[in-house]
Amino acid sequence: MILILSRQAHPNDIETLMKRLDWMNLRASLSEQNGQKSLAVVSGMNKQVQIEEFAALPLVEKVLPFTQPYKLASKDVRRERLCIPIKDIQIGGKELAVMAGPCSIESAEQMNTIAAQVKKAGANILRGGAFKPRTSPYSFQGLGEYGLQILAEAGEVHNLITISEVMDAEQIDLVGRYVDILQIGARNMQNYSLLKKVGRSEKPVMIKRGFSSTYQDLLMSAEYILHQGNPHVILCERGVRTFENYTRNTLDIAAVPVLHQLSHLPVIVDPSHGTGIREMVVPMARASVAAGADGIMVEVHNEPEKALSDGIQSLYPEQFEKLMISLKQMAPVVDREIL
Ligand code: PEP
Ligand code: MN
Repeated sequence: MILILSRQAHPNDIETLMKRLDWMNLRASLSEQNGQKSLAVVSGMNKQVQIEEFAALPLVEKVLPFTQPYKLASKDVRRERLCIPIKDIQIGGKELAVMAGPCSIESAEQMNTIAAQVKKAGANILRGGAFKPRTSPYSFQGLGEYGLQILAEAGEVHNLITISEVMDAEQIDLVGRYVDILQIGARNMQNYSLLKKVGRSEKPVMIKRGFSSTYQDLLMSAEYILHQGNPHVILCERGVRTFENYTRNTLDIAAVPVLHQLSHLPVIVDPSHGTGIREMVVPMARASVAAGADGIMVEVHNEPEKALSDGIQSLYPEQFEKLMISLKQMAPVVDREIL
């Protein structure tokens, strides 16, 4: 239920009301739009609360039901798009989030070289995996904590926000100590114990769409994170499995306007995993921005032929630079900017 609060409500009164809801075993999150405060209240599994019970509470002017199963991720809670502040950028704001870097963190030298190159080209977020979800147990599994140290240092030196995948609930605190954004990989999109635990983290979370997940599946997974109290969730379209096998996945660009229609959460597109082919990454990155994405995630490697993972889909730094030049020209057309 959404409780629309009286405009006269004082912050102390709202706090008292939230405590009261807490006693009723209900989770409430406060939001404000155009000066109108409201509380989104979700109940536990077996808790059925009647509209009348809410309507009788002090300060409550109106009670509206949720219209979607993904309650907190839906537009019911918030009509405007959500901006997530992270250091000096806002994901979901006018400035595009450009996440770039190698698939895997391989060495300090590799990371520093790539960080300098993507920063110069205009990226604002540095990506790199330290815990890699590989199809084969014999493939490179990532450098673990040492990799995270390298990523954090490169981010600091080059003034870039950092993002890295957390594969396991036990890794959350560790990864969170080193990076600014926690990434949930496509393979883990429905790992609900992991989602619940990142939902209790202070860090923003980017959740990637599973290979065969619907928009609703993705939003229900985002809901797990939001329900635990973490409001800073970013959705990521990274391609889905279809009958087409020329490309690694089929990048679903329509996901951008659909998710924006269904949810207030920012939407990022990853054309690298979405196509799996270097030559397809630049046009699909442009298409993502044209479709209104809040940003892109692109794999870039200084020596892709020697990369320990995903070299064939990684852009050369010069290609990334050219992509950024074109995105800077395109951005104003869709009311965005790249600084
Ligand atoms: C990644 O971004 O490193 C990754 C493994 O992507 P996905 O989970 O989308 O396959
Ligand atoms: Mn990869």
